Amino acid sequence: MLFTTGWLTTLFSDHQGGPSPNSPSDGIAIDDVVTDSRKDMHHSLFVPLSGAHFDGHDYVKEALRHGAVATLWEKGKPLPDDVPADFPVFFVEDTLTALQQLASAYRQKIDPLVIGVTGSNGKTTTKDLIAAVTSETYRTHATQGNWNNHIGLPLTILSMPAQTDVLVVEMGMNHSGEIETLTGIAKPDYGVITNIGESHIAQLGSREAIAAAKMEIIRGMPGDGYLIIDGDEPLLQKTTWHGPTILCGFHSSNDTVIQNVTLTNQHTEFQLNHETDVYSIPLPGSHHALNATFAVTVARRLKIPDHTIKTALGTLEWTSMRFEFLDGMNGSAIINDAYNASPTSMKAAIDVVKQMEGFNRKVLVLGDMFELGKDAINLHQSAASGIDESIDAVFTFGEQATSITEAVRERTDKIDNRHFTSGETLLQAIDSYMAQGTLILFKASRGMQFESYIEQIAEST
Ligand code: ATP
Ligand code: MG
Repeated sequence: MLFTTGWLTTLFSDHQGGPSPNSPSDGIAIDDVVTDSRKDMHHSLFVPLSGAHFDGHDYVKEALRHGAVATLWEKGKPLPDDVPADFPVFFVEDTLTALQQLASAYRQKIDPLVIGVTGSNGKTTTKDLIAAVTSETYRTHATQGNWNNHIGLPLTILSMPAQTDVLVVEMGMNHSGEIETLTGIAKPDYGVITNIGESHIAQLGSREAIAAAKMEIIRGMPGDGYLIIDGDEPLLQKTTWHGPTILCGFHSSNDTVIQNVTLTNQHTEFQLNHETDVYSIPLPGSHHALNATFAVTVARRLKIPDHTIKTALGTLEWTSMRFEFLDGMNGSAIINDAYNASPTSMKAAIDVVKQMEGFNRKVLVLGDMFELGKDAINLHQSAASGIDESIDAVFTFGEQATSITEAVRERTDKIDNRHFTSGETLLQAIDSYMAQGTLILFKASRGMQFESYIEQIAEST
């Protein structure tokens, strides 16, 4: 049980129905808070949200049919006549704000140690790494997948079991002010900022503005809360945080210095601060050594023993489409990193491919990166800056990705460098490289749907 309708009556004073809504001890048990009436709603509180094309209030009867035991309701909206008189209804000005208030109150009620993770790239990865480590020692609840916005974060908090010691939440944003809302709800004891890239530069205007938006995380933190940040990013150095700060990164000036990074096809190994221990994570890429270092830093603060941290990081199970390594395709291998893309993460992925050993040929299949605003052409060109002749072929697809082909052409003519406007010819070109011990990276924004090409290649081999 999360809480009872009795507790809701203390938060939302305007209500009707239910056994004894005025008596907190006499309420109905609520196990889940659900916004989607199509789901199983047994023992659930329904929160009808309104979007541009729908109004959740229209689905209260469906929620009832699926077992909902109470609902929030926007004041002034007519309640259907046939909603049973004993069904508890809590009237609020705005259901989204009420959902956020409820999450905030529940976070205070359970009072776990909260770790908030934001940044341009690597939030989900870092969140998953932190949760993998803390769950070895503490009862840990974490954001599922990428539920990191103004709705996902409250729902994440409201799915936290009452017996939770550590809550790890991912905080995402498109605009300034959004992290402030999220941090106000989650009130993190630890705030992690993974890095500053160019994602959402279209909305924010500059990297400085992106950094400032991520730094909003401190507004919800207690004065003695720990800020743990990418210490190699100068824009984060100018922090206005006066509490303890831990800088992590590759430069020797950091508090936690990452050293001796070695990559194998599916792992990254690294050491910290001249220590003898070697950490290994099943994710290739030196940027993942940084993400893992955030997890080690948090875990050490929480007194989790180093051997436990090492085991947890080493045995992590990975979600698909984040640098997923698909082996054994006619002697070739595919890296599916088509979950999303930004210039920073595209550069990082290309860098990893360049360092991978044991392949005869290397092919990059790169697509459009969205939401880059007026600098989109420059940013696509800059993503190509690391491409050199250790890469055999660069195939681009999508309107903006043409800029990558052009940037590569200006630098060298020794790469099979082609732009495609049809998926079919792209697949034929890739096919001509299969069966030659080739490593193929797929990287683009999610909307490019590169996974469909990967599926077709997998089916034909
Ligand atoms: P989203 O904004 O979609 O929630 P995210 O911040 O959660 O993204 P991840 O899903 O963890 O990020 O990773 C997204 C991409 O960024 C992956 O392709 C990954 O390889 C790359 N990446 C992860 N960490 C870093 C980093 N520290 N620096 C640069 N790129 C990174
Ligand atoms: Mg994410």
